[in-house]
Amino acid sequence: MQVPPLVQELIQATNEEAVLWRPEDLMLYEYDALSSRRPPEAVVFPATTQQVAAVVKVAARHHCPVIPRGAGTGLSGGAVALEGGVVVSLARMNQILEIDLENQRARVQPGVVNQDLSLAVADAGYYYAPDPSSQKACTLGGNVAENSGGPHTLAYGVTTNHVLGLEVVLPDGCVIRTGARYWDRPGYDLTGFIVGSEGTLGIVTEIVVRLMRLPEAVKTLLAIYDSVADATATVAAITAHGITPAALEMMDGLMLRAIEAATHAGYPLDAAAVLLIELEGLREAVEEEADSITAVCGAHRARQVRVARRAEERELLWRGRKNAFGAIGRLTPSFYVQDGVIPRTRLPQMLDYIAGVERRYGLRIGNVFHAGDGNLHPLIMFDSRDAQQVRHAVKAAEEIMGKCVELGGSITGEHGVGIEKNELMPLIFSEEDLAVMRKLKQVFNPQNLLNPGKVLPSGKMCGEVRVQVSLGS
Ligand SMILES: Cc1cc2nc3c(=O)[nH]c(=O)nc-3n(C[C@H](O)[C@H](O)[C@H](O)COP(=O)(O)OP(=O)(O)OC[C@H]3O[C@@H](n4cnc5c(N)ncnc54)[C@H](O)[C@@H]3O)c2cc1C
Repeated sequence: MQVPPLVQELIQATNEEAVLWRPEDLMLYEYDALSSRRPPEAVVFPATTQQVAAVVKVAARHHCPVIPRGAGTGLSGGAVALEGGVVVSLARMNQILEIDLENQRARVQPGVVNQDLSLAVADAGYYYAPDPSSQKACTLGGNVAENSGGPHTLAYGVTTNHVLGLEVVLPDGCVIRTGARYWDRPGYDLTGFIVGSEGTLGIVTEIVVRLMRLPEAVKTLLAIYDSVADATATVAAITAHGITPAALEMMDGLMLRAIEAATHAGYPLDAAAVLLIELEGLREAVEEEADSITAVCGAHRARQVRVARRAEERELLWRGRKNAFGAIGRLTPSFYVQDGVIPRTRLPQMLDYIAGVERRYGLRIGNVFHAGDGNLHPLIMFDSRDAQQVRHAVKAAEEIMGKCVELGGSITGEHGVGIEKNELMPLIFSEEDLAVMRKLKQVFNPQNLLNPGKVLPSGKMCGEVRVQVSLGS
């Protein structure tokens, strides 16, 4: 097979082992966790910032799109080569460059896996707070691009609250640095602008993050309910009592049974819902808060509040929650994960609405979510071999997103917009808001070669979820 000119130049910019271009080698890079598929023309694995810059210059000469990629766990199709082009995988740039414990900072390459950073500093009593459920696989570069959150978002915020500076390669190959390591740099907050830009403004090649001290005490509670409504009502009641747990997660009965079969986490099989609540801080404060929360749960008819007695028990409870998406594979050939946000006070109303959607379309919907910050993940189950079910799953998703917006929320809490929800952006932004975003994108990405077709609406569709038939399977 003749090596195409584009590939020859990519090899010159890196080396032969750093470029994949044969069709059979590209198949793995056709999709991310959304499952919409489109093959790229090549995949490159640069090892340095200079190589990233050289690669984007080659792509620009060929007027070829460039798609940054971390671990490919993204759930909104951000790493899919929608218009073909060169996928730039940051997987080989996976070094922790510097750990500065005195100042609670780390400088890392984008391919470092999220959990590896916390493991690297755990013995010294530190950790990196944003903890997506995919943290064993997803990269910090992907987290920056998606502004990822996780169960501990409730107390500690999302990625943007923990990133202090970036090194970024722009689509013309120019390398810029944003932010600062120790102090708030004057001028425009370019770090804040790039975090969450889903790879459409630049390729992140270095990240400075904040490290946090591990808490003195951690307590994990499992509140068990016979009614979903009682569980959802408890969520707002806990924060109304002036307590902000480190994490406050909810799973409904359908999810509990699927998770239990997959991970044997010790979840009750006959419950309608559970709240997984984690408290962190000084020992006495944690004990007091645990008592107060147990009382609040009791007042909302929790059948039982279990407290994890040992670290292993706590880890097991979390393993169940973090493997929830995988566990659903036992129940259905295909599923579609939603990521909507609502004010937490509207949870009871929203869960009723989702139950109605479930009945209307005859599809099962499991609920597992970051309840404390109103970030829902309804999992719509269907069979992708059945065209009617696929259509119903997409309609159900659109209706759930529409309801989130109607209740004062948003179309995504943490999984990003990507190619899945860019046509829904007008639901939450005015034409003027979107025009400003387009102008800002032009400054960084004037030829629209970096990750085209993502985030901003194309204008060709209206208010529709844009996923392929194979979604979630
Ligand atoms: C089982 C499961 C559970 C999940 N749980 C959570 C969760 O709790 N919270 C959450 O927020 N997300 C969650 N996700 C979604 C996903 O893991 C996150 O969005 C994650 O941040 C993606 O990281 P990644 O390395 O896989 O990036 P990819 O999927 O490879 O890429 C994601 C986006 O980032 C861009 N990108 C990647 N690297 C760079 C870079 N260096 N520079 C510029 N752009 C880049 C890509 O172009 C793409 O647009 C989950 C996914 C799965 C499959």
